[in-house]
Amino acid sequence: MGRLISVVVPVYNEAEGISKFLDDELLPTLMGLKYDFEIVIVDDGSIDKTLEKVRGAEIFRKIPCRVVVLTRNFGKEVALTAGLQEAFGDAVIMIDSDGQHPVEAIPEMILRWEKGAMVVTAVRKHNSTKHRLGSRVYYRLMKTMGSRDLVVGAMDFRLIDREVVDEFCRLDERNRLTRGLIDWLGFPQEYIVVKTKGRLSGKPSYSFKKLMALTIDSMASSSRTPLVVFGYIGGFIMVFSLILGLFILIEQYIMGDPLELDWSGAVAMSVFVSFLVGLVLVSQSMTALYVAQIHTEAKGRPLYIINKKRSFESGSGGGAKAGSRAGVRAGVDKKERK
Ligand code: UDP
Ligand code: MG
Repeated sequence: MGRLISVVVPVYNEAEGISKFLDDELLPTLMGLKYDFEIVIVDDGSIDKTLEKVRGAEIFRKIPCRVVVLTRNFGKEVALTAGLQEAFGDAVIMIDSDGQHPVEAIPEMILRWEKGAMVVTAVRKHNSTKHRLGSRVYYRLMKTMGSRDLVVGAMDFRLIDREVVDEFCRLDERNRLTRGLIDWLGFPQEYIVVKTKGRLSGKPSYSFKKLMALTIDSMASSSRTPLVVFGYIGGFIMVFSLILGLFILIEQYIMGDPLELDWSGAVAMSVFVSFLVGLVLVSQSMTALYVAQIHTEAKGRPLYIINKKRSFESGSGGGAKAGSRAGVRAGVDKKERK
């Protein structure tokens, strides 16, 4: 023992379900395990009563907790990153706060870690049809777009070793998909199959639309395949129109239209032209995607901003000493020593 495990929980407008998750699911699970835990809750700019609910949670009196409050909604991927950077544990578990990630899998994750696993990834078994369709499309696309080792159904619900966390924190790109980056780091992974559950309450904020946007984003940030594909399409259209053009030329004008197709030159031409215009527009928008990414990366902004005044930790009663890394670290060291 003596090893510390951090549990990173991103929350965004989860007022309805957060107490239930923290006190009825996470707390009993962690209390049943003989480890030192710290909870790092990242509030991703919630505008409902989430923070009050968190502050009132029972878990605060049982397990050291820190609440890192971001100034606004930065999105789950960034919130997770903030949590990983704020966590001190020898291993970090990241889990959604909506109850969809089954806490029952945590003991198994820790067991695998104790046996030497660097990354333990939960893989989803059951899911709602709509979400399943969305993520299936997503994984198909990512796979064909060149992410080779993508495991279908792999989730954000993971345990990662300190070494992986440290490497992860060195990555500084803006446009990020946490699980994609962890995969990219290349540490060997172990998978455990879990049954996902329904949300405790509220609606998922990742709509199908958002998922598609994420797909396009991660495609552009992780793969050059789209450019190549459009190159192929362009080449194909050129060859195709060349052959068709030659056919029309020979059939109509050299052989005198034996098939009586009676091509109108204007029709043929305008079809080709609109085809090509479409191609140019599509490839142009792809290029624009890449340029946009270069643009955001080049701005070099910090990934997130912590609202220090609003952040707090257990025992501090709120406000005050929030975000004081040294304070918590000292507490952890004390624990490690005994
Ligand atoms: N979340 C967040 N910021 C956001 C959206 C979501 O921190 O902008 C959190 C949310 O509170 C939950 C987790 O990320 O703990 C997953 O969110 P959600 O359930 O909406 O997504 P899904 O389950 O569809 O992946
Ligand atoms: Mg969810």
